[in-house]
Amino acid sequence: SSGYSLLRDPRHNKGLAFTEKERDAHYLRGLLPPVVLSQELQEKRLMNTLRQYQVPLQRYMAMMDLQERNERLFYKLLVDNVEELLPVVYTPTVGEACQKYGSIFRRPQGLYISLKEKGKILEVLKNWPERSIQVIVVTDGERILGLGDLGCQGMGIPVGKLSLYTALGGVRPSACLPITLDVGTNNQKLLDDEFYIGLRQRRATGQEYSEFLHEFMSAVKQNYGEKVLIQFEDFANHNAFDLLAKYSTTHLVFNDDIQGTASVVLAGLIASLKLLGGTLADHTFLFLGAGEAGTGIAELIALEISKQTNASMEESRKKIWLVDSKGLIVSSRKESLQHFKQPWAHEHEPVKELVNAVKAIKPTILIGTSGVGKTFTKEVVKAMAVLNEKPLIMALSNPTSQAECTAEEAYTWTEGRAIFASGSPFDPVEYNGKLNVPGQANNAYIFPGFGLGVIISGAIRVHEDMLLAASEALAEQVTQENYDKGLIYPPFANIRKISAHIAAKVAAKAYELGLASRLPQPEDLVKCAESSMYSPTYRTYR
Ligand code: NAP
Ligand code: MN
Repeated sequence: SSGYSLLRDPRHNKGLAFTEKERDAHYLRGLLPPVVLSQELQEKRLMNTLRQYQVPLQRYMAMMDLQERNERLFYKLLVDNVEELLPVVYTPTVGEACQKYGSIFRRPQGLYISLKEKGKILEVLKNWPERSIQVIVVTDGERILGLGDLGCQGMGIPVGKLSLYTALGGVRPSACLPITLDVGTNNQKLLDDEFYIGLRQRRATGQEYSEFLHEFMSAVKQNYGEKVLIQFEDFANHNAFDLLAKYSTTHLVFNDDIQGTASVVLAGLIASLKLLGGTLADHTFLFLGAGEAGTGIAELIALEISKQTNASMEESRKKIWLVDSKGLIVSSRKESLQHFKQPWAHEHEPVKELVNAVKAIKPTILIGTSGVGKTFTKEVVKAMAVLNEKPLIMALSNPTSQAECTAEEAYTWTEGRAIFASGSPFDPVEYNGKLNVPGQANNAYIFPGFGLGVIISGAIRVHEDMLLAASEALAEQVTQENYDKGLIYPPFANIRKISAHIAAKVAAKAYELGLASRLPQPEDLVKCAESSMYSPTYRTYR
C-alpha cells in the first residue's frame, strides 16, 4: 500500500522513526520531514508534552490521540511510565472522560451494540475488523466507577481496561475488543443532553434486558468460540451477580468489580500476614460496605480460609462480618436482605454504628468498601488501635475523596502502628521518623496477568481456585524491602514481571483443574507467559 496510508495506519505507523531505508521502500519520501528519530526520543518528546498539560483530561486526550495515531508508541509510553500514566488512561481521569465522552468523542474505539441491533448482534460482531479476539471487556454503563449511570458513554471503561491488558499483561492489542451494550440510560442529564451519543430512552429491564444479554453472549461464543475471555465491567450490582452466576458455567467470564477486586484484596491480606502474624483463619474481618466489592472480597477470603483449614464455607464465613447502610448484618435482618448478603447474616444482636460494631466484633482487620468517604473516623480507627498491636486498615473506596480515611489519618491515629492500604493512591507518610508507604489495592495488579494466564493455557472456564492462585502469586511478589516500609503490595514498576508470575500460577491451576485446552502443557509457564507478551518496540519493515 502507499506510504500515505501507512502513516495513517496506527498499527504500523512509526512517524518520524521510519528509517531512511524504510522511507525508500515504502514510498514515504517527502511525506515526512528529513529527521529520523529513535523510538526512545519520540517517547521522551511525548512525555515532555504530556507533563506540560495542567488538566488531566488534556493528558487523557493526548494519550487517546496517540493510540489512534501510533499504537506501538502509545504502549511503549504506557509500559515504560506505568506509575505515571495509569491514572491518566484509567481511574481517576477515565471517569471524567466518560462524563464528557459526548463532547470529546472523535472516533469509535470499540463496538457499540444497542437495542436497535437486537436480532442482529452476530452481524454486528462481524463488522469488527479483527477475527481472532482473546479478551472482550463489556459494560452496559450502568455503574461506571463510582459515578453511576453514564449509559453509552461508559465506553471509556472497556477501552481503558483493555489498554491495561496490553500494557500490563502483554495481551496483543489486536486481540482485545471493547464493547458497550446500550440498553438506554436512566441518567436524566444525559437524556436531556443534545450531544448525548447513546439511545435516548430509559433502561431496558427484566425480560427485555436478559434476552438482549443472552443474544449477545450466544453471538460472542458463536463468533469467537469457547476461549474468548468476557470481562463484565461496571454493571450495576442488581445485574452483576446474576450475570456472573448465569454465564460462569457456559462461558469464560470474569467480573473485575467482584472477582478482580476480591483477588487483589486477598493478595494484600495474604501478604500482610508476614507483618501481622498468624494465618487468615486466625483473624477477624469487619467490612464497611456490603455491595459488589465487599461481598466479593468476603467470599474469596472465606474460600481461602476453608481451603486452608478444611472447614466448610459456612464455618469459614463466620470469621467475617459486614456492615451496610443499615448497620451490622445480623440474622434478625435476614428476611429483608438481598440474596448476596444473606450468607453473612450471623447470630448477633443488632448494631447500628460502625464504631460499636468494631467494639462488639473486635476485628483485627477493617476493610472499607462503602463508597462513602470519612467513615473511618478517629473514633473508629482508635478503637482498632486499642484492640490490635498492628491494626490492618484498608480504605478501598474510590476516588480519593471517598476513601474511608486517608493514609495520614490511619498512621497518626494509631501512633504509626497501622498497616494501611487503599483503593486510590496516597503518598508515603512520615511518623516519628519512620516512613510508612501505603499500598494500593489496585485491580490492575491482577486482571492483566489473570487474563494472560487464561490465554496461555487456553482455559475454557474461570474457576474460583484460579482467583486464589492469582492472589497467592501477587502476594509472593512482595519483598522484604517492601515489608520494611509497611507495604503489602509490590511496586507497580515491575508489573510485567508480576503479571507473568500471576499468569503462570493461574495457568498452572487451569491445567490442574482440567480446564486448559492448550496441550501439551508448557514446561516453564513463567517463560511461556513472558515470551508470549506483546512488545511495543518498533518492528523493522523490509
Ligand atoms: P456497591 O455495590 O454500591 O456497594 C456499596 C455498599 O456500601 C452497600 O452495601 C451499601 O449499603 C454500603 N454503604 C453505602 N453507604 C454506607 C454508609 N454510609 N455506611 C455503611 N455502609 C454504606 O459498591 P461497590 O461496587 O461494592 O463499590 C464500593 C466502593 O469500593 C467504591 O467506592 C469503589 O470505588 C470501591 N472499590 C475499590 C476497589 C479497589 O480498591 N481495588 C475495587 C472495587 C471497588 P446498602 O447495601 O445498604 O445500600
Ligand atoms: Mn470496574
